[in-house]
Amino acid sequence: MFVTHLECTACGLRHEWSRLQNLCTACHKPLFAIVDLAKAGRALTREALATREKSLWRYREVLPLPASVEPVALGEGGTPLLRATKFADDVDLWIKDESLNPTQSFKARGMSVAVSMAKHLGATKLAVPSAGNAGGALAAYAARARLEAHIFMPRDTPRANIIECRELGAHVTLIDGLITDCGAEIARRKADEGWFDMSTLKEPYRIEGKKTLGYELAEQLDWKLPDVILYPTGGGTGLIGMWKAFDEMEVLGWIDRKRPRLFSVQASGCAPIVRAFEAGEKFAAEFPNAHTIASGLRVPKAIGDFLILKILRQSNGGAVAVDDQEIVRVVRDVGSTEGLFVAPEGAACFAALKSLRRAGKIDIGERVVIFNTGSGIKYLDCYAL
Ligand SMILES: *Cc1c(COP(=O)(O)O)cnc(C)c1O
Ligand SMILES: [Zn+2]
Repeated sequence: MFVTHLECTACGLRHEWSRLQNLCTACHKPLFAIVDLAKAGRALTREALATREKSLWRYREVLPLPASVEPVALGEGGTPLLRATKFADDVDLWIKDESLNPTQSFKARGMSVAVSMAKHLGATKLAVPSAGNAGGALAAYAARARLEAHIFMPRDTPRANIIECRELGAHVTLIDGLITDCGAEIARRKADEGWFDMSTLKEPYRIEGKKTLGYELAEQLDWKLPDVILYPTGGGTGLIGMWKAFDEMEVLGWIDRKRPRLFSVQASGCAPIVRAFEAGEKFAAEFPNAHTIASGLRVPKAIGDFLILKILRQSNGGAVAVDDQEIVRVVRDVGSTEGLFVAPEGAACFAALKSLRRAGKIDIGERVVIFNTGSGIKYLDCYAL
């Protein structure tokens, strides 16, 4: 393994990778795993990837977990990058279809790596707040690792997510409130219960799993990043992870300096990043009365807000909100043109593509990648028969 230590994203303080860590002990901001890229690059070349398994663990040398330890894996990553031929004919549109991951969403990427590390470092009981897919992914990987999963979900979480967690053997608690209330409940009880908090960005390894989105995208596009990426943003782990991957790949000499313009797509009913981006703020204030059917986007306050905002600005991208009615309409548009039953979060990006084109923020012929982060099948409650 070539991870040398953890580093605070805000104050830079070093932490050991070899014990269970949550936030920075000094300033309570997220920690990043730092990879010795000179060594990793000698152990892994782009060419060597060609013969490896179609799984995110193909990038093992840039991931945490000692080489002698077996990952907790269910076949995550290695998802198709599909050319969209009909939905928009004036841009070169590609869809990264993350619904094919275990538990039908890209949350599997983060949880495979984070559960592998938590188990390796001695955790026995894992806890997570989830308004959707994170719970199911944790439940699956915890079961596979023979660890306990304690999942706190808002009562209005889609039925499929709640049932999935229970059937995967997790302890599920429904809370009258939002995901932030679920997180607060875990924070209150974790010391007494002996739970390790697996909340997004509150432990350092889910982001390592999510960064493989960036590695995979580069590899699938023959090491040339697209012009634009549209990413449905809740906690922002995938966006922050991809940006980390781009920086790492540049140091490895795998890609050049050119970066895509990154756009965060949110729901109008919960758009803290859009508001903060437009107001020129460094942090995003908690979004009041958050509501949207895109449960993965129902994150009124993200702990990595300052990282998301910095990346959107550095990349020359932006942030767009889409309302729920439009999201539902677009699900059928994408379904009937591309043959994919996308999650509302993914659908939001297709709607955002149209508005960004109208606003002249994406040009004709540009290469655009949309992340369909989950499957529509988990959101049947949103549709009438
Ligand atoms: C969690 C989730 C998101 C948001 O992902 P972040 O990395 O937390 O921003 C988007 N789509 C789906 C389907 C999700 O489950
Ligand atoms: Zn710090």
